[in-house]
Amino acid sequence: MEAAYDPQKVESEWYSRWEAAGVFAPETNPDGEPFCIVIPPPNVTGSLHMGHALDLLIQDVIIRRKRMQGYAALWLPGTDHAGIATQIVVERELAKEGIDREEIGRERFIEQVWQWKAISGGRITEQIRRMGFSTDWSRERFTMDEGLSAAVKKVFVDLYDQDLIYRGNRIINWCPRDRTAISDVEVIHEDETGELVHILYPFTEGDGGIEVATTRAETMLGDTGVAVHPEDPRYVEVIGKTVTLPLVGREIPIVADEAVDASFGTGAVKVTPAHDPTDFDIGARHGLEPVVILDEDGIVNDNGGRFAGLDRFEAREAVKAALAEDGALVGIEEHQHSVGHCQRCNTVVEPYLSDQWFVRVGPLVGPAIEAVKNGEIRFTPKRWEKTYFHWMENLRDWTISRQIWWGHRIPAWYCDSCDEVIVSATEPTVCACGSSDLRQDPDVLDTWFSSGLFPFSTLGWPEETDDFDRFYPNSVLVTGYDIISFWVARMIKLGLHFTSDKPFTDVVIHGMVRAEDGKKMSKSVGNTVDPLETVEEHGGDALRLALIQAASPGQDIPYSEEWVDAARRFGNKLWNAVRFTLLHVEPGSVPASGGYPEDPGPEEAWVLSRLAETVKEFDDLLDAYRFSDAFGLLYSFAWSEVFDWFLEMAKAPLRRGDASVGPTVGVVLRDLLKLFHPAIPYVTEELWSELVGEGFIATSEWPEPPPTVEPSGFEPLRTLIVGIRRFRAEHGLSPRAELPVGLLDPEGVVEEWWSDQFTSLAAVTPESIDGAPTDAPRTRIVAGSVQAFISLEGIVDVGAERERLERSIVDIEAALARSEKKLGNSEFVSKAPEAVVAKESAKAAEARGRLEKLQAQLSELG
Ligand SMILES: [Zn+2]
Ligand SMILES: [Zn+2]
Repeated sequence: MEAAYDPQKVESEWYSRWEAAGVFAPETNPDGEPFCIVIPPPNVTGSLHMGHALDLLIQDVIIRRKRMQGYAALWLPGTDHAGIATQIVVERELAKEGIDREEIGRERFIEQVWQWKAISGGRITEQIRRMGFSTDWSRERFTMDEGLSAAVKKVFVDLYDQDLIYRGNRIINWCPRDRTAISDVEVIHEDETGELVHILYPFTEGDGGIEVATTRAETMLGDTGVAVHPEDPRYVEVIGKTVTLPLVGREIPIVADEAVDASFGTGAVKVTPAHDPTDFDIGARHGLEPVVILDEDGIVNDNGGRFAGLDRFEAREAVKAALAEDGALVGIEEHQHSVGHCQRCNTVVEPYLSDQWFVRVGPLVGPAIEAVKNGEIRFTPKRWEKTYFHWMENLRDWTISRQIWWGHRIPAWYCDSCDEVIVSATEPTVCACGSSDLRQDPDVLDTWFSSGLFPFSTLGWPEETDDFDRFYPNSVLVTGYDIISFWVARMIKLGLHFTSDKPFTDVVIHGMVRAEDGKKMSKSVGNTVDPLETVEEHGGDALRLALIQAASPGQDIPYSEEWVDAARRFGNKLWNAVRFTLLHVEPGSVPASGGYPEDPGPEEAWVLSRLAETVKEFDDLLDAYRFSDAFGLLYSFAWSEVFDWFLEMAKAPLRRGDASVGPTVGVVLRDLLKLFHPAIPYVTEELWSELVGEGFIATSEWPEPPPTVEPSGFEPLRTLIVGIRRFRAEHGLSPRAELPVGLLDPEGVVEEWWSDQFTSLAAVTPESIDGAPTDAPRTRIVAGSVQAFISLEGIVDVGAERERLERSIVDIEAALARSEKKLGNSEFVSKAPEAVVAKESAKAAEARGRLEKLQAQLSELG
């Protein structure tokens, strides 16, 4: 095998071999219990960012382990057509060539998008391959492929027939830049400082008027009423009167409505039914006509009179100026309020009255809440269930129509002769009235409508396919907390409704990958890290190991390149460990499983018992989705126990020609490779091919805890060896400097087993003694029932050592006194945070322990 570990070389070959051998298909384990994860479909426009890398990595770790555990494991890949996002990208591409989408028309534009998708849509799937993610490409789906489109049509038609989809003229969120309706979850609310403009609406008859206030002055152009609370004593007299709308001259009524908050502002509100959802409801109750004053670009239309043609923000200023001139402006004050922005383009969203399609979510919510409450669907971490419930309980109907071209076109046709609406999965040719003058609705569906069906549509539903039969419900759904509302909640609602079964059992929520300083990674700030660049530099395995070691459920991860570097060094260490092993066992001679020694020597017994404990604990942690803890545990077992101790201890018996140790080193390393495989698939597969040499580690059997023999005395041995090494370092002695060591071991735990390890690892040959020596000067190392004594005569300068100890004692006594004084101060103890007090107590206890040790050492100097 190669002397040096070269990640790029190792990672260039394995993926195509895995794919060619069909390793990623569930048919690998034809008799296994089914286990299925569907990918959160990345956008076809996309390229892989750190968030994806983490998300997919967690899924890969889960699925690779399940595959090794013998499950028929399916990880189903797919991509999302990403309606608006894709349309914008293609529009921009065409604009570069001077082509306008309106000019070429709908059909040709959509052809262009498909062409574009064919060229660039594959980029993200290439990146998924480069990261080593083991998705079954033979089952790859696209949200606009034939099967998924059929599922979308069926769902739409069924919901319409069940009166759960309707078309209505309602206030929706409008993005004037994207020129489409968007749903509530696509609106990001931000607190901003704005203005509250107070305006006086004069009574049509008589003196005086009524004062109203608004943050969007231009909307007054669309006012058709003023509302007050029916029990507000200030206004009882004026209910039913009319006011004259300044600048416009429209005579509008004062109405009484319970929805008005009498304690806010003047207690009177202007009513703009076409541009505010609350006003729309008030208007509907009192027969106030909605007047739309903006067009789809957010520009004032003819209903705005002399302000027509102005952008909504220009109009705001112009209206304020005109009101001032008119004498109707009472005043302007600064005002903190929440402003909705388009999630995609950050444009301020306009509440806008418009004809749209909606899903009536009310009837779908109940079962979706129940499935989580009764534990059929479980969130990890559990606290996200609260977010889910809160969100579900506060849902408005879902706006699903989008005024764009790229997407699933709404399967509804309008008859121009009789106003009939025909909703059908197939194109109708004639209306019930006999007319064939039918027009299809021009709008397309919200992208999330099709992604909401992903757990079943990708498995062939509504056809009764074998895959649907086997892999539905899915086992696990992995996703970031940012799309619980967009995606998870909708899959649960639609899954329960259409399949009468939950879509998945476990929902694993992970955090976001943040910049090193904890800030959100964002292209505009310029602090993003491209995972593919990192892979080019350090290798895919290194990035994977670094990320998974940081992945605690639901916690954000501040990304640090240092971790990736450390992870790469770990790969190197693993490589060297296997090279060392191959000096003692034939390449390819390690069995694929089993092969543990029947009569292990003490070193082997110790490492096998630790391996058994580690396998068990590691499995428990992974079953609880505690990836960071699991791989932290495995990493420290590998590094601090296998590499630092076991491989070092194996050297002595290997030198002696002890036949059993070599194969044991081989099987321990093999199991380590298997346990690490889900996180670092490439290097473990490469090393497997050297060590075992047959089949793939990717489809090998997951390790069981090996049979163990109770080892004894390793911990005391380790403590003594570490103590002796430290003694030499503290006194500036060379690591192999001769030391006279007496070993007092009344229970015989160390001598019996480990005497040659002292010589090998600590370069001492201890002399067995029956009682503690009384001669001074000496120092003592205690490890349980075992004590080692080192005579200092002729080894160290006793006078200098005494001075050193005395100085340390003085320092520690002073620190201890300070701690005790603090802890004796009742004010500190009662007022400081609990954690601070606890830390101080721990500090004092540690100082007392150190002091005791130093004093004992001093007394042993004689
Ligand atoms: Zn937008
Ligand atoms: Zn008709």
